[in-house]
Amino acid sequence: MDTELRFLAGLAIDESARLIRATHRERNGRGYSLVSLLIQACERVSIEASSIAGQVPLADPAVGPSLERELYRLLDELKLVHLFLGMYAGDFGRNDLPVGLVHMVDALVRDLLPRGADPIIHLSPENMYSTLGVVEAAKQLWRLTPPPDPHPVGFNLPALNPENAMLAPILAHEVGHTAWRQGLDAQLNATADLTAASAHLRSAVVPGGPSAQHLAELFDSWRQELLCDALAAVLTGPSFLFASAVFLPVTTGPLMSRVMCCCLIWTSFCRIKSRKSLSGPKKY
Ligand SMILES: [Zn+2]
Repeated sequence: MDTELRFLAGLAIDESARLIRATHRERNGRGYSLVSLLIQACERVSIEASSIAGQVPLADPAVGPSLERELYRLLDELKLVHLFLGMYAGDFGRNDLPVGLVHMVDALVRDLLPRGADPIIHLSPENMYSTLGVVEAAKQLWRLTPPPDPHPVGFNLPALNPENAMLAPILAHEVGHTAWRQGLDAQLNATADLTAASAHLRSAVVPGGPSAQHLAELFDSWRQELLCDALAAVLTGPSFLFASAVFLPVTTGPLMSRVMCCCLIWTSFCRIKSRKSLSGPKKY
């Protein structure tokens, strides 16, 4: 057991050092907060692994399995660091992005993320049109010292070219998801009365059908989607409606209702906007 623990601790320490070395070129510009947080996580893993290695040889062999579990947990954390570095290594501090794209991302951060964000723009057809709040997605890496705001947020989208530039408003919907995870949901729930919705969900539970919890989760995920649609429709206007109609898979029924729902949100917003502009100062 002692030999295995020494081996695992050495592995965690070496891997931490290797990952820190891998970040040495990306220390400036946008996205650097992620580099800094990943280095911080590696340093903590290295300290914890050294502390475990310091306990070997074990005075009490009964603690061996728990130390082993702890070392495997640390190695899993390094896998996460590796994953983020692998995904975003080419995106830190880059200055070759179209100005319009950078401006759009900055505007979305300003409008939708009250705590701000250090945006990392990742151009790739994988994970297309999605956002990744790194700290929320991997809380365990910074469990001892939660990072200060703003947090790094990955903006994943395919390279803008004439064939897909018109889909850019979809990103506004995706930033809505990050806003939701950063507390927008809790803020809305603080004032919302969900009694009727809860009663409706409970009445939908039938023997042999989906559980109340499953229905609640489904309801919650759609609530999130619709809120993100509403935010995107209000922020980017009809361009979001056209982008959604093209981007979402072609079907009938609920999907058409979703695009129609965005149309209704947009027209209602325009009505409120024009009423306000007639009756007082512009403040939306
Ligand atoms: Zn969504």
